Amino acid sequence: MGTTAGQQLRALFYVVPPGESSFRTLDEVPDYVEKSIPFFIAFIVLEFAVSWVQQRKLPGRINDGISSLSLGILSRLPDVLFRSVDLVSYVYVWNNYKLFELPWDSHWTWYLTFLGVDFAYYWFHRVSHEVNILWAAHQVHHSSEDYNLFTALRQSCLQRYTSWMFNLPMALFIPPSVFAVHLQFNLLYQFWIHTEVITNIGPLEWILNTPSHHRVHHGRNPYCIDKNYGGTLIIWDRIFGAFEAEDAKVVYGLTHPVNSFEPILLQLRPLAHIWNTFWATPGFCNKLSVIFKGPGWGPGKPRLGLPEEIPAVTGNEVPFNPSVPAYLNCYAVVHFAVIMELYIDLLATVTTLSQQTILLRIGIIILSLTSFGFLMESRPKAGILEIIRCAVFLGAYKIGYLRNQLSLLDYAYESWIPVAFCHFSEFEHLI
Ligand SMILES: [Zn+2]
Ligand SMILES: [Zn+2]
Repeated sequence: MGTTAGQQLRALFYVVPPGESSFRTLDEVPDYVEKSIPFFIAFIVLEFAVSWVQQRKLPGRINDGISSLSLGILSRLPDVLFRSVDLVSYVYVWNNYKLFELPWDSHWTWYLTFLGVDFAYYWFHRVSHEVNILWAAHQVHHSSEDYNLFTALRQSCLQRYTSWMFNLPMALFIPPSVFAVHLQFNLLYQFWIHTEVITNIGPLEWILNTPSHHRVHHGRNPYCIDKNYGGTLIIWDRIFGAFEAEDAKVVYGLTHPVNSFEPILLQLRPLAHIWNTFWATPGFCNKLSVIFKGPGWGPGKPRLGLPEEIPAVTGNEVPFNPSVPAYLNCYAVVHFAVIMELYIDLLATVTTLSQQTILLRIGIIILSLTSFGFLMESRPKAGILEIIRCAVFLGAYKIGYLRNQLSLLDYAYESWIPVAFCHFSEFEHLI
């Protein structure tokens, strides 16, 4: 099912009225998220331009931006192989347990689903901050120390396996085609609020989740912790006592920063931490509490930990920012663009590709994003990993697994990869 560019743009702000976004069947529902990729890029460019005009510092850094986009790509890779667990579970409940069926083409159903999806998101998000095992997945989104439109795309791979259950009550009466539209709109709405460029939007701050409210949510200042969980609406926070207005300068990121740009590590390290804490904590009940109470919990402490243990901020915190030569930043940006193109092409052509080709492309994407993380951190052996990656990429390209109609891959193959090999010595400090 097609959408116009105007509808796609308005979908980013949840402004596609019921008459334009109601569908009889699930198969007719457009993939609004995938079609938004060009708009994501355009808005990121716009954010940089506006910041420049406002004579502020640039809103992002190459290392952090590549890291956020890498995590965004990684989080969507399961969709290439499997149907979304949110939709599969929802359709299963709908087919087997629905109590009654609201009409798919009623405006009332559309608005009720808007509220239902946002309410379910609120509780999913709140529980994701208050239950350690769910936080292990969600914390990826909070791991950036910058706050910009890149951060919006920094998503967890694992979160989809914890969010689906919160939507199931709606499957008792709301058709999957209506739910699938709002699930996407709710996610897309949260893109534009990840910016410092917009200070506040007047009276709408009372009702909507806005850049100001969500900046608080991403803060590690003590006053920001466990506040403003809303997706599209901020009213849930006001009703359930989790609202906090933006006040002192917000310092972004985790209270205990991970200090890494490597996407797999950012995804998995919290799980390793829970595993180690689980075995180090004495007593069966305490071990269960390690998993199901808040990330700040410890034996003898309240469920969400002690507020006085949240590290204070001074406003002078320096984000993790290892210095790398300018040419290496340039190299990483060009090669990241190549991998981005490979990913977009994979999404567009997945139904025509063999399983073997899909798996090989996914493998190359994961290897590449990992290698870029190593390079951005000046990690020991980053040079060796990058040269192995180039060799794998070149081999797969040579035997035809990466061929597509676009030119960027050809360009990279023709010029950049040989350059990387020829200038092996320039990587020496990383080897
Ligand atoms: Zn959050
Ligand atoms: Zn966010």
